Amino acid sequence: MPKIGILAIQGDVEEHASSLEELGAEIEQVRLPNQLDEVDGLIIPGGESTTIIQLIDLYGLRRPLISRIQAGMPTWGTCAGMIVLAGSLIDKRPEPLHLMDIEVSRNAFGAQIDSFETFISVKHLGEPKLRAVFIRAPVVTKVGGNVEIMAKLDNGIPVCVKEQNMLATAFHPELTKDTRLHQYFVDLVNINLDSKLL
Ligand code: GLN
Repeated sequence: MPKIGILAIQGDVEEHASSLEELGAEIEQVRLPNQLDEVDGLIIPGGESTTIIQLIDLYGLRRPLISRIQAGMPTWGTCAGMIVLAGSLIDKRPEPLHLMDIEVSRNAFGAQIDSFETFISVKHLGEPKLRAVFIRAPVVTKVGGNVEIMAKLDNGIPVCVKEQNMLATAFHPELTKDTRLHQYFVDLVNINLDSKLL
């Protein structure tokens, strides 16, 4: 079983931990830079991106995170985690890690519908549709040519995107009982480990 890290500085860490535990994955809550060397994959949870990024900088995690992720560690950002991974933000703050070739706008669903639920088809997950919970979610406003759009809303807004070893969702799969996206991520981590052993 791979060891999956959850960046545990703020946000819905416990919820991701329960989903992963259900799948039998080994989990490590990551707070210190050297813990990044002990995990085979990393989840950056939802929460408040300004706080998460401030603490990333305070704990000296920015450079180690960038280098581990650029070296191929499978990494999945949910909601605020998507903002952390973004290549650029429409907003002035915070300063993302500039890793994924996506442009993101924070809280862009607007005040009235800034929290909602819907069912979406997600590539590679099959049927049935996934229940997706959006809480003051970011909107992906541009995607680069190498980014795979795995799910969109009916209005065309991408809400699940993948680029090489990086996955980002605007919604919160850890808040539902459906563990298919967590399983998909664990599979990515396993495939990455197997390819290293070859
Ligand atoms: N609105 C939050 C932010 O900008 C993200 C919300 C979430 O992660 N649920 O950081």
